[in-house]
Amino acid sequence: MSGILVVAEHLRGAVSDISRELIGAACRLREQTGGPVRVLLVADDPAALLAPLQLAGVDEILTVAGAGAHFDPAVTEAAAHLAALHCEPEVILLGHTSCGMSYAAALAVRLGSGFGADIFDLEPGPQGLRATRGGYGAKVNIVLEFPGKPVVVLTLRGATFKPPEGGGTPALVALALDAAAVPGRSEHLAFTEAPSAGVDIGKAEYILSIGRGIQEDKNVARFAQLAERLGFTLGCSRPVADSGWLHKAHQVGLTGKVAANCKLYVALGISGAVQHLHGMKHVETIIAVNTDAHAPIFNVASHGSTLDVFEFADAIEKLL
Ligand SMILES: Cc1cc2nc3c(=O)[nH]c(=O)nc-3n(C[C@H](O)[C@H](O)[C@H](O)COP(=O)(O)OP(=O)(O)OC[C@H]3O[C@@H](n4cnc5c(N)ncnc54)[C@H](O)[C@@H]3O)c2cc1C
Repeated sequence: MSGILVVAEHLRGAVSDISRELIGAACRLREQTGGPVRVLLVADDPAALLAPLQLAGVDEILTVAGAGAHFDPAVTEAAAHLAALHCEPEVILLGHTSCGMSYAAALAVRLGSGFGADIFDLEPGPQGLRATRGGYGAKVNIVLEFPGKPVVVLTLRGATFKPPEGGGTPALVALALDAAAVPGRSEHLAFTEAPSAGVDIGKAEYILSIGRGIQEDKNVARFAQLAERLGFTLGCSRPVADSGWLHKAHQVGLTGKVAANCKLYVALGISGAVQHLHGMKHVETIIAVNTDAHAPIFNVASHGSTLDVFEFADAIEKLL
């Protein structure tokens, strides 16, 4: 058993970002564990999706063709099982996405492997692999070890691991799977778009986020206007969304969205609970405004002020 197998994801004809992030995680881990990095691509026509996966550090791309036009958990699980028997990896990485979650546990059971879900850190330890995930509503970090397990299946959290930079020339190996004969196949009926609030926190580069510190529903409009005038996307903490002051699509955090592409995050009247930090603490520049000098948001802020959020808004509005 050696090396790492990544199972790539794609949707509507495009390779998903998580695939490149999984490859990044695999390449980083391989620096310490050694062994090849292989990527499994299960698709109707894998050739059409190869290019974004031909990244630096990938040794081999295993392809399974004729898998149907849409993702099928049973077929992907069967293909991942086949690939695991073919290359005997030590670690199998899947996305912690609705696709990955739908077959990861089944794959682990079939392989008799170790298993960890929603992993955000990976490193070799004295007893083999160590994988870190959150626990108790993200209040603590739990480090998992897998003693005695020759292979471990992990689903990795999105927007957490950096994709490799630059292209590569991995070898291509075709695996044969009769997808039509896989039991438990599902039928794709249609894609249903989630109701949109016209906001995409994951793509936004500049976010102005409001929390319970804005105090009342009627104050939301003022901060929404401020965000618009600044050219920022409006984000919020969970109580603001839960109270119905803003659509859930604005919520940043564990049960909201990760500000994956954000360069500047302004947190107004947000205390900085771990679940909120989950969605934004990685942002390079964070400005926090909170009247409580001991609020945990200041632990991750690059700039902070204990101004009242309304005084802060007054001051910015005067400059515009
Ligand atoms: C399983 C689980 C998942 C969760 N997921 C999320 C999530 O995805 N996102 C999320 O945000 N939360 C999430 N939460 C909730 C989280 O634990 C916190 O309760 C929440 O983030 C607090 O929101 P807040 O900072 O707006 O409110 P509070 O914690 O009430 O903080 C308000 C802050 O505003 C400051 N303030 C008050 N008045 C002013 C003023 N006039 N000017 C300046 N500052 C002022 C206060 O000092 C305080 O620090 C989750 C919780 C659980 C258990």
